[in-house]
Amino acid sequence: MITGQLLEKNVKTDAEEGLRKLPEMGKRLRKVWEEMENEMEMIFDAVSYNESLARTAVAAFITPLNPTLDEMADVKTAVSEAVTNAIIHGYGNVQGYCRHGETLPCHEEILPGKVTLRCRLEKGILYVDVSDQGKGIDDIDRAMEPFYTSKPELERSGMGFALMEAFMDHLEVESNPGEGTCVHMKKKMYTGSWMDRED
Ligand code: ATP
Ligand code: MG
Repeated sequence: MITGQLLEKNVKTDAEEGLRKLPEMGKRLRKVWEEMENEMEMIFDAVSYNESLARTAVAAFITPLNPTLDEMADVKTAVSEAVTNAIIHGYGNVQGYCRHGETLPCHEEILPGKVTLRCRLEKGILYVDVSDQGKGIDDIDRAMEPFYTSKPELERSGMGFALMEAFMDHLEVESNPGEGTCVHMKKKMYTGSWMDRED
């Protein structure tokens, strides 16, 4: 009985002590996340199944920042749109994607090509570049218009760039016909801002 009471008292004291330290711990963690610097580059084949590889890689890259679920979803979606564009439009590899009105994915020859994903984290800002050495874009302004697609025969809605713009803070497209395309994106990561929330 006495042991039980002692244990209860100790647990209560530990919990109270932990709660008292929470704000300081939060401050320190925020500082660690804000000062975190990191960089990575990966090069992979331009094939549909590497879209999930890129999504997973960027998710793992930002995980140490403890992003919110929304931040995580935004970054993964933007990267996956840029990578899909490099695969389908840059290199013309439609294998694995569906044609309009069809439910089965295309089975076509895969053309050679590599996609590069570069991620950099500096002062709480995530920089992402997705590049290819594919066919390039003739008219960048037109390509970036919502609902414009040069592949209406596939299940494409022409919303890839619009999504990248909506989910990231900054989007810039560099492209030269015959040489390839590089999509630069930037997003401020609100490192641990969920700690300030009261709900
Ligand atoms: P969705 O992304 O909705 O499936 P989409 O890919 O056609 O459709 P966007 O991602 O907005 O739409 O791209 C618009 C257009 O820009 C594409 O249809 C294509 O013509 C061109 N484009 C985009 N990325 C590239 C790229 N890496 N290389 C060549 N052309 C590209
Ligand atoms: Mg697209």
